[in-house]
Order: sequence, then structure tokens, then C-alpha cells
Amino acid sequence: MEAKLIETTEIAPEVRHFVFEVPEVGRFTFVPGQFVSMNQVINEKKITRAYSIASAPSESNRFELCLNLVHEGLLSPRLFQMRPGDTIEIRRPLGMFVLRNPPRDSILIATGTGIAPFRSILKAQLHEKSQAFTLIFGVRHESHLMYRAEFEEMARQFPHFRFLPTLSRPTASWTGRSGHVQMHLGEAIGERRDVDVFLCGLKLMVDDVRNILKDMGFDRKQILFEKYD
Ligand SMILES: Cc1cc2nc3c(=O)[nH]c(=O)nc-3n(C[C@H](O)[C@H](O)[C@H](O)COP(=O)(O)OP(=O)(O)OC[C@H]3O[C@@H](n4cnc5c(N)ncnc54)[C@H](O)[C@@H]3O)c2cc1C
Repeated sequence: MEAKLIETTEIAPEVRHFVFEVPEVGRFTFVPGQFVSMNQVINEKKITRAYSIASAPSESNRFELCLNLVHEGLLSPRLFQMRPGDTIEIRRPLGMFVLRNPPRDSILIATGTGIAPFRSILKAQLHEKSQAFTLIFGVRHESHLMYRAEFEEMARQFPHFRFLPTLSRPTASWTGRSGHVQMHLGEAIGERRDVDVFLCGLKLMVDDVRNILKDMGFDRKQILFEKYD
């Protein structure tokens, strides 16, 4: 099927938020945490790349993405050049990076655009009676904290949602957490081992955090992850 770009906005340096619609369906259905695959023929070869959906499911045929520009990459620079009205071929949403049933309190750990599936999950599934969520969000600079105002608002509204942003390269004016997400696992998890942990971002972070969690006594089945590279 085809997705048509409705609008795109820069939300951090070299990161854009995209709104697409799928004209051929009345309602675009997916489970929060899933991704769409996008296809384009580049140099006579069909290139496919996966992108986590950043929006919550709705009654509409729209979905949103959060993409970073990989300068030397094949597809992402082309997506950044798309203009409203342009179309791209997509495949229906897939993926198992979704909340488990029955629901358990969950720790969500993202770096960079790895925040995308967690925005979808939280927008759809954080409510007064939901399980508790803690989000650790690691980026380099404060300006890279995508959707920060939304997460801060969620934390104000719901006492069982904790938002723990951390900067790996803070400036002197930053008074919040610093260092990699790995440094804040203790604060997020404490002594609890009855939680699910979701990891999303580049391989280096995901593999490192998985090893730390295993050393902390987590079972493999409690750790869900999505690697972007
Ligand atoms: C399930 C899944 C969901 C994903 N969701 C998102 C998403 O929501 N947003 C998003 O921006 N990307 C996401 N990605 C990554 C995306 O699929 C592409 O890999 C990325 O856009 C680069 O594609 P490219 O064709 O431009 O570069 P390629 O030509 O494929 O790669 C160029 C190089 O960049 C590296 N690279 C890949 N991804 C990144 C990255 N994000 N940052 C820095 N370097 C990278 C690769 O390892 C490779 O060495 C997801 C990947 C998977 C598997």
C-alpha cells in the first residue's frame, strides 16, 4: 500500500516528525510498539527499512514517525527530502515489541529515535488504571529530547509514570541527570525484578543494557528489545 506524507516538522537537530496517511484504508490499525516497513527502488535495487510508529492508534488512517537523518544512509536522506503530497510504498505494521499480557509494570529505555515506539505505547496505554511506567530517555544534548513536553505533561498527570531524561553531553546549565541510560537503571528499577523491561535504540546500548539486566537477575523473557542497526 501507499502512504502519503501530510506534514513533517524538525523536532531536534537532524530529527524530524512525519505525519503520513494511507489513502486506501479508512482506518490504519496497528498495535503500539509495532513498525511499518518502507520500500523504495534506489539504484535499481528495492530498499526496505523499518520505522517504529510514534503515534497511538486512532480512528483515522494516519500514523506518525520519528526519524533521524543517517547522512551516509540510503533511504533516510530520501525520506528527509519528501514534501507533503509525496508518496512511498509501505507494508502493513508488524512486530512483537508490544506490551505483554497480562500487563506488568514496565521500564522503557530509549536512546535517540528509539523513543518512537514508547511515545506510541504511552499515548495509547498510559491511563489512570494502567500499569506503572518508567521511561529512561538518553540523548546527547538537551535539544535532542524529542517530545519532552509531552512526557513531562504525562508525568504531571499520572503519578505512576516517571520520566527520567538523561544527557550524555550536558552543558553547565543542565541540572538534570547526565551520563548514559545505563547509569540510571538503579534509580528506575530499584530492587524490583517483577517488571518487564523494553529497550529501543542502537545495538551498542541495547546489548550493553541487556547484559547489565541479566547480571541484575532479570530473566531473558522479561527483556524485550528493538535494535535499529
Ligand atoms: C524494527 C526497526 C525499527 C526502526 N525504527 C526507526 C525509527 O523509528 N526511526 C529511525 O530513525 N530509524 C529507525 N530504524 C532504523 C531504520 O530502519 C534505518 O536503519 C535507518 O533509517 C537508516 O537507514 P538508511 O537506509 O538511511 O541507512 P543504511 O544505508 O541502511 O545504513 C547506513 C548506516 O547507518 C547505520 N544506522 C542505521 N540506523 C541508524 C540510526 N537510527 N542512527 C544512526 N545510524 C544508523 C547502519 O548501521 C549503517 O551502518 C528502525 C530499524 C528497525 C530494525
